[in-house]
Amino acid sequence: MDNRIVDKKIDILKSLISNSSLDIVGWKARTADNPAPEEYVFDGDWVDVELPAYFPAGKTVFLKSRAVVLDEAPIVDTYISFQIDHLEGLLRIDGVPYCGIDMNHLRVQVPRTGALELELEFNSNPEALYHPALAVIPGQFKAAVVCEANRNVEGLIFDLQFAIETSRTISDPRRKKLLAEAVEAALLAVDLTLPRVKLLEEVENARGIIADRLSAIAPDPEAGTMYAVGHSHIDTAWLWQVKETVRKCGRTFSTACRLMEQFPDFHFACSQPQLYQYAKDYYPEVYAQIKTWVAEGRWETTGAMWVEADCNVTSGESLIRQMLHGIAFFKAEFGTRPRNCWLPDVFGYPSSLPEILAGCGITSFYTFKLHWQTTNPFPDHLFYWRGLDGTDILAAVINAEGAYNGFPTPRQLHIGWERYAQKAEYPEVIFPYGHGDGGGGVTEWMLEFMKRAQRPYPGLPAVKTGPSEGFFDDVVKRKPQLPVWDGELYVETHRGTYTTQSALKKANRISELLLREAEIWNAISRKGDQDALRSAWKLVLLNQFHDILPGSSIPQVYVDALRDHESVHNTAKRQIENAQAALTPAVNNSTAIRLFNSLSWARCDAARIKIPSAMGSVALVDSDGTEHLTQIVAHESDGDIAIVEGAEIPSLGYADFNIVAKPSDVISTVCVTPEAIETPLFRMEINSDGAITSLFDKTHCREVISANMPGNDLQLLQDGPEGEDAWNIHDTSDKRRYPFDGETTVSVVESGPVRGIVRVTRHFRESTFEQDIVVTAGSKRIDFVTRVDWQARQTMLKVAFPLAIRSTHATYEVQFGALERPSHRNTSWDKQKFEVPAQRWADISESGYGVSLLNDSRYGYDAKENVLRMTLLRSTTFPDPHADQGKHEFTYSLFPHAGGWVEGETVRRGWELNVPTRSLPVNTVEPPHSFVSITGADAILEALKPAEDGRGLILRMYEPHGARGEVVVKTSMPLANVLECNLVEEDGGRISATGSELRFDILPFQIRTFRLNG
Ligand SMILES: [Zn+2]
Repeated sequence: MDNRIVDKKIDILKSLISNSSLDIVGWKARTADNPAPEEYVFDGDWVDVELPAYFPAGKTVFLKSRAVVLDEAPIVDTYISFQIDHLEGLLRIDGVPYCGIDMNHLRVQVPRTGALELELEFNSNPEALYHPALAVIPGQFKAAVVCEANRNVEGLIFDLQFAIETSRTISDPRRKKLLAEAVEAALLAVDLTLPRVKLLEEVENARGIIADRLSAIAPDPEAGTMYAVGHSHIDTAWLWQVKETVRKCGRTFSTACRLMEQFPDFHFACSQPQLYQYAKDYYPEVYAQIKTWVAEGRWETTGAMWVEADCNVTSGESLIRQMLHGIAFFKAEFGTRPRNCWLPDVFGYPSSLPEILAGCGITSFYTFKLHWQTTNPFPDHLFYWRGLDGTDILAAVINAEGAYNGFPTPRQLHIGWERYAQKAEYPEVIFPYGHGDGGGGVTEWMLEFMKRAQRPYPGLPAVKTGPSEGFFDDVVKRKPQLPVWDGELYVETHRGTYTTQSALKKANRISELLLREAEIWNAISRKGDQDALRSAWKLVLLNQFHDILPGSSIPQVYVDALRDHESVHNTAKRQIENAQAALTPAVNNSTAIRLFNSLSWARCDAARIKIPSAMGSVALVDSDGTEHLTQIVAHESDGDIAIVEGAEIPSLGYADFNIVAKPSDVISTVCVTPEAIETPLFRMEINSDGAITSLFDKTHCREVISANMPGNDLQLLQDGPEGEDAWNIHDTSDKRRYPFDGETTVSVVESGPVRGIVRVTRHFRESTFEQDIVVTAGSKRIDFVTRVDWQARQTMLKVAFPLAIRSTHATYEVQFGALERPSHRNTSWDKQKFEVPAQRWADISESGYGVSLLNDSRYGYDAKENVLRMTLLRSTTFPDPHADQGKHEFTYSLFPHAGGWVEGETVRRGWELNVPTRSLPVNTVEPPHSFVSITGADAILEALKPAEDGRGLILRMYEPHGARGEVVVKTSMPLANVLECNLVEEDGGRISATGSELRFDILPFQIRTFRLNG
């Protein structure tokens, strides 16, 4: 039968579904703005509206009316059905959230007979938020009816659609033909011109014909199984703000609850406890229903992380907190404990993630995004993913046509199986389905298709359904021989997300580290408000969502996120101040200062302190009588700001110093002119652009910068344009470089005795740059403190350091460790890593010497041959038309060192750049004190915090260098009872600890966590 007849007949059948239909009339409407969840600013009172009714884009629209369901109406066949356009909303019946109504969900079964009070809350034309040109298009509410569906007509339509699509999709000629013939026979059996009663008899007969024909065709014995999981991907913010996500949860979750009632075989998996928290707070009736479905085992609380977080920029500790709070929420609220990490849409996965997951009791990992590779198809779809420390985790990276928003159509089921790479090793593919990104989820037609797909269906893989973790449990049980992928899962696209919306990335970095410090000082002082810190952490975790932190959301999302981080910063700073004050005697006559260090090694890098302004030039004298020079760098109303270098502060501790007057006639060892800086360690030459033409290491008698190009070369590169520029950087950027324009100035701002600063100012069109090149007398670290008023468009700012180093690879810090990536371009895989993520530093070293490039808030790097670059700013136009425009301040540092990055202690220098010392006035000088010190094998204290359950303290350490050995932790806190625990504070075995000393072995890049005094 010709396709044109087939399609037309089905169209006519669709118009015949309703046995009866009754208009719902008497609609009233009112519009409002919705500044926050459950907050509405109404434009006026309810008014009567005629249908179709039109509402301005961006408005919240309330509509209400009464529907009457006749007593004799069959409930399961009776629907309220809507005609709408550009509206997305929630239907409440009798005041209770009932079902989402959007373009994919236009009808819902009635709950009962009788009069139903309907109220709809729509968002009108939400697309206008990210496409302003669409703002002229109104939301349209066209009609609503109560109707009774004829199940046979509907059933025949689904039977035919499923068979036709299968016939048109599969390549096996025999089944293809037999399926087409079955469709033809069924359609020939229906005369659409008959009166309805006769027609319905023929429809019933046709269903029998197609069923008989299908059952006569044998399924393909070689086809595997698709393990289908109902799902809805809800971006916590993206082309909408978080406040809209709250409403999306109400819609999507209530829809899922209705489908649960309607389809007993329907399983739904939903990740992100943050979304459940919204349901609990704003849709308690829906939340209560979810609890029932979870208890029945049909609603799966999956995913572990608080939100599906970015994994490139997010710190290692934050990734742990994502799961700490995510798992704790599910346990407390539902009695469930997720074992799968569900990250379908995240833009890259660090090599430390397997260890982090395993350490959180997570045994499997699911994503899709690796199939967006621009060049090199990801080869494996079911494999063991081996992490930095050697941990293996079961990973499914399934290549489905609908990505993670699939539909259970014959085409997608067929392609899902056809593309699957591990057919021979394990014949089953996990297949999430349901509308997503903006939520919505599963629909009636999908579940009707699932009914058909779950029968043995000729030409298609078998289909089964269940919780997503059931899929992974089966794999573990059946122990297939699977390939191993060792190392990071680098996604060959979306490389711009390491840099876009850099103010948020900086705010996130500061929040992560302030919260770390606040927890440490609270734990030590036994003071502080852990509940406030927990709430602050949850704000940080929310804003690490994979479209917020990466920079791929609309501008309003960043207003919200930066406001959240400001409150986190204030909370954490207040707690640090209070806790440190509790560790410091009260002051009545400050002639001394106490410096605090939260890092787990003694440090003596430059520290910023406040001194009484009346004293003029001063020195600091420690408890041994050793004198340390200071340099006043600023005057404030309540004192002077000075820099001191070389004053040692012990590991997680403090040191006190007397402040003594000191004549300012000290001969400086730092000599600064606009053209050159000389310290005891370096001689640097600066050209008229502020670039470094020579950096001579006096200790090692060698040049650091390559002879052919200057270092600190600020490069303005053409970036885009393209439709998704917030996400993407292209390797053509280097082919068009823009010159700076206007006047460049280079001047001396400070010159010794502790530090020297040369300031460079530059211009590019409307943008201005002010950069301080900062050196201190005793440090190998050269800081580039950079302030930019950035007004560029389609332009990227990078800084390049061509180094006098020969190496074929560079090393990058990742969460809880470091990894090497090639700096050559031998293969197509190497070529695609032209922009890569890193945490606090990257490094190029040769035997005996190397150079690290550290950052305080930047994440995009590249290394090609001997040139190490960092991406400083971008200026993208979608989805934020003005992304990154405005003022920025950030610091990057060049750190030449003896040996490689391990011997050179790059890891510590990266921490020190990011974590300041803090000072408080004291009356008298006490001996230095360390609350926790670490000796033996290299290990870094990542976290010291009050335990979530209040039982003792949690101490987390990691090995940063890829080495092993025994670690000795000494603490001034008596250790009565030490338990090893996992990363989410679930207890393991007891560890022997004597007095105040804890000893344990640590393996390369291992993370170990202990509960002290639990
Ligand atoms: Zn997403």
